[in-house]
Amino acid sequence: MGLEPTTSTYDLIVVGAGISGLSLASRAASRGRRVLVVEKSEEVGGCLATARVQSGPDLFWQELGAHTCYNSYTNLISLFEERGLVERILGRSKLGFFLLAGGQIRSLPSQLGIFELLASVPRLFTASKAGHTVASYYGPIVGSGNYDRVFSALFDAVACQDTREFAVEFLFKKRPSRRKDFHRSFTLSGGLKSIAEALASQPGVAVETGSGVDAVSRTNEGFSVRLESGQLQASRAIALAVPPPEAARLVAPIAPEAAELLSAIRVNPVYSVGVAVPRARVALRPLAGIVSSGDRFYSVVSRDVVPHPTLRGFTFHFRDDDMASNLRRIEEVLGVPRADFQNLVVRENALPSLGTTHAERTRRLDAALADAGVLLAGNYFLGLSIEDCVTRSFALAAQLDGLLSRRSTVEA
Ligand SMILES: Cc1cc2nc3c(=O)[nH]c(=O)nc-3n(C[C@H](O)[C@H](O)[C@H](O)COP(=O)(O)OP(=O)(O)OC[C@H]3O[C@@H](n4cnc5c(N)ncnc54)[C@H](O)[C@@H]3O)c2cc1C
Repeated sequence: MGLEPTTSTYDLIVVGAGISGLSLASRAASRGRRVLVVEKSEEVGGCLATARVQSGPDLFWQELGAHTCYNSYTNLISLFEERGLVERILGRSKLGFFLLAGGQIRSLPSQLGIFELLASVPRLFTASKAGHTVASYYGPIVGSGNYDRVFSALFDAVACQDTREFAVEFLFKKRPSRRKDFHRSFTLSGGLKSIAEALASQPGVAVETGSGVDAVSRTNEGFSVRLESGQLQASRAIALAVPPPEAARLVAPIAPEAAELLSAIRVNPVYSVGVAVPRARVALRPLAGIVSSGDRFYSVVSRDVVPHPTLRGFTFHFRDDDMASNLRRIEEVLGVPRADFQNLVVRENALPSLGTTHAERTRRLDAALADAGVLLAGNYFLGLSIEDCVTRSFALAAQLDGLLSRRSTVEA
């Protein structure tokens, strides 16, 4: 590829400023490393995609990506403590998700077949998740009718994709502990993008936005990275914290076997549309969100859990990007004409589809990169959640110490 070797300014260059890249950068900087994070888009956060607009004296924000953290996210909470974010935590009001069925908003329990549930649920106590998809694990536990009517919509909403073939171990996991001194579920004032912004402003972390990494190559000292702007940067180690297809492209010249494994991971786009509507115009009861079987959207996520005095916000996570049909569906579900939308924001995210053979693939990926000096972070190792990303990144920050000390020994 012929990138000019340059002197290493950084111990680590992280490609991608989502929660995976930034939590790795933060942890590495806290351990005394000089870190550069390079982000393709103008703003940091990736799937932590809060949209903010001024509404009179207030800043109105709504989430176009991740929306909820839990007190079982103990690694994330440790970052909040380090970065002074604890005071910004807002507990989410206890509102439910509802099912849209037959044009009506209905409670989830009202749609369950109780006899089928009672007959099936004892299987919960003997079922093992190992090797099961979401459908093959939960179908027998809740009964196939309940699964098709209610649970499949709920699970698809959680992962923003069809979860029938998704490995159940990647979607729901029991986490080792909870921080009972925090709200059970929470967000942050200003939205979850505030986490990314706080990590990006940490001393020891330099961030370049607005120009993606175009290519990576090896040098005697480590790696050279070429940005889309043409700028070159050098580092002793490199971490790719980008979606699998992009990681495959960047790693191909360095580790072709890893690139092949990454290319096999399917990634699903999610097309999100957020609208803010004056309170008086929406008749819907306060709710956390709406799911619906076989609809254009996976879910509607509401801002009602952190009420705003004058506006209500709803983000529709759609399966495709047919904007005219999506807007029509928003009008129908909210019962509000487009003219009343005060703010309309759109975003495309992508989430990986993790099947039952995926765990073995991640083991092979780690093995293929063990000697290459390249770290891979992301939501396709432990699971999709923010906590899964942070947990993976913390483990990589610890690995980085070993990697850099091995390099120092070789250089000496
Ligand atoms: C709609 C939605 C709702 C969700 N809800 C929740 C939730 O409520 N709770 C929860 O725990 N999790 C939730 N998740 C999952 C979680 O938000 C994501 O899995 C996680 O944020 C992914 O972080 P990441 O850093 O691995 O990847 P990303 O956030 O995708 O970040 C990757 C970054 O890399 C950048 N990039 C790509 N290519 C390049 C390049 N060549 N050079 C430089 N930069 C590049 C991208 O621009 C992006 O900023 C949700 C996800 C979505 C999409």
